[in-house]
Amino acid sequence: MNTLTLTDLLNKIKEYNPDEVDIIKKAYDYADNLHKGQMRQSGDAYITHPLNVAYILADMHADRDTVCAGLLHDTLEDTDITKEDIRIVFNNEIAELVDGVTKLSKMNFSSKHDQNMANTRKIITGITSDVRIIIIKLADRLHNMRTLEFKSEFKQKENSLETMEIFVPLAYYIGAYRIKSELEDLSFKYLKPDVYKKIEEKKFKIEEENNEMLREMLIKIHTMLNDKSIPNEIKIRTKNIYGIYKRLSEGHKISDIHDLLALKIMVDEVDNCYRTLGLVHSLYNPVNSKFKDYICNPKTNMYSSLHTTVFSREGKLVQTQIRTFDLDKIASFGLTAYWDIEKGNARDVMQNELKDKYQFFKSLSELNIMFKDNQEFVEQVKSEIFSDRVYVYTLNGDVYELPKGATPIDLAYKISDTIGNTMIGVYINDEYKELDTVLKNKDRVRIITDDLSYGPGDDWYDKAVTSLAKRKIKEYSIKK
Ligand code: MN
Repeated sequence: MNTLTLTDLLNKIKEYNPDEVDIIKKAYDYADNLHKGQMRQSGDAYITHPLNVAYILADMHADRDTVCAGLLHDTLEDTDITKEDIRIVFNNEIAELVDGVTKLSKMNFSSKHDQNMANTRKIITGITSDVRIIIIKLADRLHNMRTLEFKSEFKQKENSLETMEIFVPLAYYIGAYRIKSELEDLSFKYLKPDVYKKIEEKKFKIEEENNEMLREMLIKIHTMLNDKSIPNEIKIRTKNIYGIYKRLSEGHKISDIHDLLALKIMVDEVDNCYRTLGLVHSLYNPVNSKFKDYICNPKTNMYSSLHTTVFSREGKLVQTQIRTFDLDKIASFGLTAYWDIEKGNARDVMQNELKDKYQFFKSLSELNIMFKDNQEFVEQVKSEIFSDRVYVYTLNGDVYELPKGATPIDLAYKISDTIGNTMIGVYINDEYKELDTVLKNKDRVRIITDDLSYGPGDDWYDKAVTSLAKRKIKEYSIKK
């Protein structure tokens, strides 16, 4: 039974935003009053749901308006009030956020399927106007998934599948790993209960068996860093259940998963991350092929950290993840970490970062323009963005993210129209290749261009995989 109370929420708010307690209490009272008499299937009063959603947001140190919108997020859909009412009682921002989160259930669609597609599209594109809408939606989904046991088996499967297909990728793309991992495990539990249980038991056993060894390593590294006057904090973590499942289904043995057991080492500044790396290697032998510098080369969701897998004294593989305290916030919370790092400016910083640095944002905006039909849009997003990805390097070390199956033609247009339109050849890992070669993870790609080229070839349209490249090729042929 859920026992979270308003006092818990207000205490959480007091930790980071003590001046805003009153308005948050007001939003709670307002929502509580509107949802009076409504119950959840668990038997709890309905207000427990928005309260929990607000708490998840407050736990991420969300700004005042976001927490209020979390409390009010179901009022437009489930009660008689309007967006205008919220604007008058609270403010414009909160009204816009609640409106953004509200499902389209009151609109008229010819079928449930059409409605779902429109819904999904709204969820996905919500991010382009204000990323906070997606974050509220993620918190909403997280609490619904946590309380899914009270729904029918059909609903459980349906929601879990949708969570895996839509919400997990969204959480991943904004870098909110904590939410992503929890959503994955919750969905997996309902989708494959037997497998989930088996892996869960194995995971507990492995944690128990290795706890002492990991503690010992932690203390050793901690002591060493203290000796060198590097401020630090170290935590033990194990991979989430779904993550383990994925590795196992790729054919790995559980003992070979190089990041099953990990130590997260946080230090004060970036320079010290590299010093720490050297120190860790002086204590434990590294597995050379498993070193990654995501500080110089962040993932496309801005995850930044040094990864090195080492052999413990017992010969077990232990991954160490080394990053600064600030980078750790980004590693756990993604974009939402800016609530903490930037305080009052967070909203704008988040939106700008998203536009400038997160590759999926551009792809999403493109697809949103190109596909009028909701179903086509959702299908394209699933196959181009939310599907398996490959990551390739260009010669200057830039990383590009493409859907599996993509070719150099897709890459060229992703870099720029001009590069696409003037491409005449390609080297992949220093070998001259055909333009329709399927790119693989970590390929180094050099695109040869010629300003005098005749433009995209007649067969390029079919060789391209992404909608972006196809559209550019079509546009070029129309202009010609
Ligand atoms: Mn809700």
